[in-house]
Amino acid sequence: MIPRSCYVHVPFCVHRCGYCDFTLVAGRDDLIGPYLEGIERELHFVLGEPADRLELDTFYWGGGTPSYLDPDQLRQLNQTLLSRFTLAADAEFTVEANPHGLDESRIQTLADLGCNRISLGVQSFDADVLKTLERDHSPEDIQTVVERLRSRIDNFSIDLIFGVPGQTLDSYRTTLDRAIDLAPRHLSTYGLTFEKGTTFWSRREHGSLKQVDEELERDLYALTIERLEAAGYRQYEVSSFAQPGFESRHNQVYWSGKPYHAFGPGASRYLNGRRDNNHRSLFTWLKRLQDGTSPVGESETLSPEDRARELLILGLRQIKGVSHAEFEELTGFAPKTLMGKYFSTHRDNGLIEDDGHDVRITPAGRFIADSIVVDYLRTD
Ligand code: SF4
Repeated sequence: MIPRSCYVHVPFCVHRCGYCDFTLVAGRDDLIGPYLEGIERELHFVLGEPADRLELDTFYWGGGTPSYLDPDQLRQLNQTLLSRFTLAADAEFTVEANPHGLDESRIQTLADLGCNRISLGVQSFDADVLKTLERDHSPEDIQTVVERLRSRIDNFSIDLIFGVPGQTLDSYRTTLDRAIDLAPRHLSTYGLTFEKGTTFWSRREHGSLKQVDEELERDLYALTIERLEAAGYRQYEVSSFAQPGFESRHNQVYWSGKPYHAFGPGASRYLNGRRDNNHRSLFTWLKRLQDGTSPVGESETLSPEDRARELLILGLRQIKGVSHAEFEELTGFAPKTLMGKYFSTHRDNGLIEDDGHDVRITPAGRFIADSIVVDYLRTD
């Protein structure tokens, strides 16, 4: 299969938020120039000598904060990438952005470059929650940015986080309502996680930050589904909601097992059945490319069965579930065989349902989707 999608990681932020473990550097603007050169080197390293440009259906710049780059840097990045790629006429071109710093000139530049979808790191409309998350924008900034976006890039998605220490059901209800009022085409909602190595992790260990209890987290997720569906958004994946026709095409490429290119520190590409994960350190990624060596830190070629298990998990996170026939045709494995004894255990417990055509996680199962699907990685 020829890849028709490309992810580009832009590893710069104003500062590192306490819960974030993404690949990025903060306060190192001096590295933006070398990073842009690094992307050029990586394109050459991975794709070889320039040939015909490769056409893309989806193009995704994530981070970090891609909108941290100034207009000249955004143009340079785009020009470098488009020396090797071209966008299909109806391509989806998404750029992640933060409300802080997404000014008129950046929006205009992104629109001029063909960006037609913005994924906005809103997280909350509650000033106290934003402070806890160590975000650098205010609820008012969100409103201002959305007004700026409307006339140029009308298709925007909002990211929200629930389960933040101090967050209440009422405060989160207000956040959901304010998000809905802005009429984004798409929303992604995530439960806060405490990743090892982050300051949130240490603060929880030392008792200065208390994780919300499971019951509240469950109620917050239930409220998300209830409020967003009532407002006309369709949940199409455990964490993703969209107006009809505005589902993320790029994410669906990941979930369907199709190949994709990826560039930048920490980025993972999936080509010819092999996953290559670039080194997570910007410094190592850069140094290797400057030395003419591979920026890949880890590679894995999954066995057909492991790949099928991975696809099963990604498929089950989607609300439509997995078609028995299509899955078996694609992978050579029957979903029920891979699920083993957990198929009947989870079905009998009301966590999955099977209508003979598709198997899917039930609405009750969505609350513990991660712990359900992890059972399908087991071979016992
Ligand atoms: S803005 Fe996003 S990517 Fe940057 S540090 Fe905060 S959470 Fe991480």
